[in-house]
Amino acid sequence: MVDTAAQTARSATTAAPTFQLFIAGEWVDSDSGKTFESLNPADRRDVVGRFQAGTAADVAMAVKAAEMALPRWKATPAPKRGEILYRYGALLAEHKERLARAMTREMGKVIAEAHGDIQEGIDIAFLMAGEGRRMAGETVPSELPDKWAMSIRQPIGIAGIITPWNFPMAIPCWKIMPALVTGNTVVFKPASDTPHCATLLVELMAEAGFPPGVVNLVTGSGGEVGDAIVESPDVSVISFTGHTATGKHIAERAAHRLKRVSLELGGKNAIVVMRDADLDLAADGIVWSAFGTTGQRCTAASRVIVERPVVGQLLERLEARARKLKLGSGLDESVDVGPLINPAALEKVGSYIEIGRAEGELVIGGAAATAGDLANGNFFAPTIFSGVEPMDRIAQEEIFGPVLSIVPVDDYASAVMALNQTRYGLSSAIFTTDANTAFRAMRDFETGLVYVNAGTTGAETHLPFGGWKETGNGHREAGHAALDTYTEWKSIYVDFSGRLQRAQIDNQA
Ligand code: NDP
Repeated sequence: MVDTAAQTARSATTAAPTFQLFIAGEWVDSDSGKTFESLNPADRRDVVGRFQAGTAADVAMAVKAAEMALPRWKATPAPKRGEILYRYGALLAEHKERLARAMTREMGKVIAEAHGDIQEGIDIAFLMAGEGRRMAGETVPSELPDKWAMSIRQPIGIAGIITPWNFPMAIPCWKIMPALVTGNTVVFKPASDTPHCATLLVELMAEAGFPPGVVNLVTGSGGEVGDAIVESPDVSVISFTGHTATGKHIAERAAHRLKRVSLELGGKNAIVVMRDADLDLAADGIVWSAFGTTGQRCTAASRVIVERPVVGQLLERLEARARKLKLGSGLDESVDVGPLINPAALEKVGSYIEIGRAEGELVIGGAAATAGDLANGNFFAPTIFSGVEPMDRIAQEEIFGPVLSIVPVDDYASAVMALNQTRYGLSSAIFTTDANTAFRAMRDFETGLVYVNAGTTGAETHLPFGGWKETGNGHREAGHAALDTYTEWKSIYVDFSGRLQRAQIDNQA
């Protein structure tokens, strides 16, 4: 590994480097004097690095730095801010291979998917760079003569960005890029499982030319660093992605300060397979959606709702494909499925196997994979349960691992009912060759994303991304919609009549 700006010293006992916080344009140690380790989930003996265990005092310093940087940054013309985002996107592209390898080592997703994760970061950087020249408001006619009416967007202030580990580069970029182009400054707290990915992202932000204090990084626990960001009276908006329970906790804490909170939370995504579907295509889409990123995507499919006449044929195809999946370190290009993020995830996924056996029938998998090279990693075999009922626990609760439930139904109406019978609403898909059924699904599925003849994953950065129900609180990331999280609207009226004109009064007959 090459030495970086963030890396200060090598531990005397191992080769694992120690990284620092980034506050006011400087790499600094935490006030705590403590560090924590980030481990390679494919081989826990491999320590990726040691990271600062940040504190509330570190957050206060980062918020102060963000506050000091805010006046100049928001006064910088938006197209100029956008130019720095362009440079950042170009740097991500230039360093894509290095970043992808670091991501696979720290988070575990296979290298092709790590490339995709960074590509999402590049895409959002360029999209948001362009917003520097758009960021459109409205100009509308006034109800009074000689009067101009328009609206503009302005930054909210300091954005607190709290992110999960599963898209350790894409998700921070999805949040930080719109926050910056709209003129906010940022305090960023990444997941404690992927602090190296976050550090690499922020190093390149410094190189791209964001002025000191515009982006600040504080690693450390959710309870300490995350809470301090949420509680800070000077942080005006929180953008959070993670578990529904954490999101609710954050929303409650932020509510008493009337702080804006954008939440992207859990999911229980389903794919409907109709009897007229191309079953080979459906099986390919399901395997990619269920077992890609080891089932740890927010958009991963964990339920397949299938019309009874084709259950057997579909299951045969799924089992055949799942049996061929190769587990291992994602740095090996022949590997299909990497490890789960940590031992706690391994335990959680394992705990659903007994539940699944009681509720359905185990078709394949159902255990941790520990043979040979897998012994030191958090590997779990791709698992399929058949004969699951819509309200069974394995069809209702977010497992966040490679576990798929097959839910047989009689017809389209019962498929829709099963699909919508969940507290979540992120992504859904239907495989059908009937155009009418496809259009009904687009209308009837209660999710923020709907795919036709494709799996539940594959969102592109120029459309809004987010979920219904308990998957979120109505905000959206990506697309123009992302700007709403980080801006206040200001409506402006300019009267050039030279006399007092009273709206709603002087224009009445
Ligand atoms: P968590 O909720 O455990 O953690 C997310 C982030 O919140 C981490 O940075 C964590 O820090 C931090 N955090 C934890 N507790 C607090 C707290 N009390 N106050 C403030 N911050 C806190 O989620 P995971 O990282 O495990 O991510 C997996 C979840 O994310 C799944 O439910 C998945 O569905 C969801 N997700 C949703 C997406 C969507 O778009 N809807 C996209 C991707 C994932 P630390 O790591 O230090 O604990």
